[in-house]
Amino acid sequence: MNKKEVTVLNTKKVFSREVLVQQVVDNQNWDVIVIGGGATGLGVALDSVTRGFKTLLLEQSDFAKGTSSRSTKLVHGGVRYLAQGNIDLVKEALYERGLMLKNASHLIKNQSFIIPNYSWWDTILYTVGLKVYDLLAGKLSFGASIRISKKKTSKRLSTIQTKHLKGGVVYHDGQFDDARLAVNIAQTCIEQGATALNHFKVCKLLKTKEGKVSGVMAKDAEGGVEYQLNAKVVINATGVFTDEILQMDKFDAKNTVRPSQGIHLVLDRSFLPGDDAIMIPKTTDGRVLFLVPWHNRVVVGTTDTLLDSHSLEPKPLEKEIDFILETANAYLNKTVSRSDVLSIFAGLRPLAAPKDASEKTKEISRSHKIIVSESGLMTITGGKWTTYRRMAQDTINKAIALGKLSHKNCRTKDLRIHGADGSAEATNHLYIYGTDQKAIELLIADTPELAEKLHPRLEFLKAEVVWAVTNEMARTVEDVLARRVRILFLDAKAAQEVAPYVAHVLAQYLNKPQTWESAQIKEFTQLANQYII
Ligand SMILES: Cc1cc2nc3c(=O)[nH]c(=O)nc-3n(C[C@H](O)[C@H](O)[C@H](O)COP(=O)(O)OP(=O)(O)OC[C@H]3O[C@@H](n4cnc5c(N)ncnc54)[C@H](O)[C@@H]3O)c2cc1C
Repeated sequence: MNKKEVTVLNTKKVFSREVLVQQVVDNQNWDVIVIGGGATGLGVALDSVTRGFKTLLLEQSDFAKGTSSRSTKLVHGGVRYLAQGNIDLVKEALYERGLMLKNASHLIKNQSFIIPNYSWWDTILYTVGLKVYDLLAGKLSFGASIRISKKKTSKRLSTIQTKHLKGGVVYHDGQFDDARLAVNIAQTCIEQGATALNHFKVCKLLKTKEGKVSGVMAKDAEGGVEYQLNAKVVINATGVFTDEILQMDKFDAKNTVRPSQGIHLVLDRSFLPGDDAIMIPKTTDGRVLFLVPWHNRVVVGTTDTLLDSHSLEPKPLEKEIDFILETANAYLNKTVSRSDVLSIFAGLRPLAAPKDASEKTKEISRSHKIIVSESGLMTITGGKWTTYRRMAQDTINKAIALGKLSHKNCRTKDLRIHGADGSAEATNHLYIYGTDQKAIELLIADTPELAEKLHPRLEFLKAEVVWAVTNEMARTVEDVLARRVRILFLDAKAAQEVAPYVAHVLAQYLNKPQTWESAQIKEFTQLANQYII
């Protein structure tokens, strides 16, 4: 067997679903079971396993299927929270931002943002404010902020509205691929000895006769087998699904969370052709709006709309689409219309539900919250992608402080995430795979037709589909096109067009019949319709 086969096959075995499910069959007793495979749950599982605890993470759908694939793609301290005077939160997030860049260098890039100023007061306010932002970042600064002239602003942002423009303030933050980071964290968990399974739903909590949570009942979505799994600690990290788990614990538990929806539109790069992103600090509804270059497209968002219900596939509302188009058009000199939207996606933030009808809904503190139920069930909620590591550290520290786990120190501060090698160079789009890039290139060398583009409008290659199914735990067309190669989020029509090819590759590697392949194409086509306006 030659070297390239060894590379590909070895990795495949570690992440093989059969191997991971067998670990569940063989081990009924765990130290920690984490429910939910978004940023929060994956972070907790990684913290737990690296401290030496026997850890199982179960995700009902795919890793990052929920809010964690639908973010604005920023690794940031939060300029907005600084404006609100939330210094501690910003400082914590800026520190985590620095660690993320160090530990997942292949996925996180230093991104310059320009705040266009249309009044002299704003110029002063943001110049001073961003100096404070720089100071709070300390040694982990991404670069100093500076004020620039109107001429420089319009040169760097060639599509910005110049009427009444006074100048701009440049600052730096991080930008990343959220779902890919989630998959890479899941891989790191497994490499460190945890079991992390997607498409595996927790349906019930197990309790001792004293009423203490002692484990979960979980069902493998592939094959439908149910498992009874015991754990010293069960951690609920289910985002907007938090209450469903809390109600498994106590059937009459009141709702603690009310979802607020944020949507993003994805546009062609011609709407923001340079290297800089735009940050609009105050839209007409008081929100921040970002226009950020991402995978050679531009992501524009977001809104903040209270909803009465949650779902894994939230739907953008017409009024949200209109709001983003109107706001973008107020700041750009190139008109954006609905027909320019390549993809549209919505994500849900868990807000604290009002305790009674007279109380207004308020946001769950951006600094996360850990709840310990009477039954011992632990719930971690709030926070943001940028602070996922710190949230995890606090959660496991709390479990230790409660005496549920033995004392062991956190080890994630310097832990490299799967793929990070500290020397990522963006020579082509495959750089995002970090240390896996070489193995994908070997795959192509072995089977040259895999070098073909998946779709003429996009840079992604056929080899990436094979890689996703053999090495990145993708199980469905959606897993591949939404969260491994992101085409659904970048160009939803192109995603529909390549679905039959992806379904065919998956069917071959997963040994599925033609009926499965057809059902996958149908299901994905319907889903992708939601990403098209
Ligand atoms: C519009 C928007 C933009 C944002 N932008 C940014 C940003 O730019 N930068 C940033 O740092 N943060 C951002 N955030 C915040 C960040 O995205 C979230 O804090 C983070 O993704 C939340 O992750 P989570 O794991 O808590 O939730 P989720 O990602 O929703 O994960 C919860 C998971 O639990 C699973 N689950 C639920 N029930 C079960 C069950 N019974 N069994 C098994 N699994 C279950 C779900 O399938 C889901 O995958 C943004 C949030 C929103 C809404």
